[in-house]
Amino acid sequence: MGKAADLPNLPITFAGSPLERASERRIDPTWLAAQFKGGLFLPFWQNKPLIVEDRAGFLPWRDAWQEGVCVFLGLDEDQALFAVDIVGETDPDLGCGAFADMRASAFVLPARDTAIAGQAKALIDWHRRHGFCSNCGAATAPCDGGYRRVCGVCAAEHFPRTDPVVIMLPVLGDQCLVGRNARFANGLYSAFAGFVEPGESMEDAVRRELQEEAGLQIGAIRYHASQPWPFPSSLMLGCYADALSRDFKIDGNEIVDARWLSKDEVRKRLAKEIEDEMTMPASIAIAHHLVRDWANG
Ligand SMILES: [Zn+2]
Repeated sequence: MGKAADLPNLPITFAGSPLERASERRIDPTWLAAQFKGGLFLPFWQNKPLIVEDRAGFLPWRDAWQEGVCVFLGLDEDQALFAVDIVGETDPDLGCGAFADMRASAFVLPARDTAIAGQAKALIDWHRRHGFCSNCGAATAPCDGGYRRVCGVCAAEHFPRTDPVVIMLPVLGDQCLVGRNARFANGLYSAFAGFVEPGESMEDAVRRELQEEAGLQIGAIRYHASQPWPFPSSLMLGCYADALSRDFKIDGNEIVDARWLSKDEVRKRLAKEIEDEMTMPASIAIAHHLVRDWANG
């Protein structure tokens, strides 16, 4: 067995936020206003969080931020945490840190900061796209600390969306099938994935996607773990799918190649003991957990 078996059991990136969301209390404007007074605020600019010395850059309130949407993230012990969207085309110089891409930041931030910043990014991104009512077209206004928007004309309520995505690793005996999506970086092979459609269960979506993308016939499906993925608002549902045979036929459009790998080869590749063009999914992706947990199981 390769040394990959000794890899640490990493937490699932973006999951496991330590905050108490206080969902019963944040609907009370008086309570929320009191939290705001002593709150700390994570600034975002163009969907990028402020990072200060490899931590989420929470700062005291500044009046210059009043134009942007402010959302309540939760309580860290007794400390109220918020995120604020700074509007404008010019990078605001806050005198500390820098605004950084959320995905890249997930590799450097502590796990708890990544979870908190990911929650903030999903919420702020949603507010940026939902300023107008999908029912009548009038302007909407945020309330409940940012977890609801209400239309000023027809009173329709709008809630932050979470989009379920199935992500699945086909397995058969000692082998798993990994695919190369046309959009992947060079050499990356990973689990298969796709959005759950209306009227589908998670299992229905797994079967459909593997049939469409890889021509695979599937038996049992086992749920493994899930991951919030704020790009912009997905919930990744990680599964194993028992393939009924090794025969596959890639669609050649979305999936351009696929390969069966043995557990031993997966362990060696995760430990970077095989030097070639092929790469495995990065540690921040739930696909990494799917292949690693299966190979180590
Ligand atoms: Zn409306």
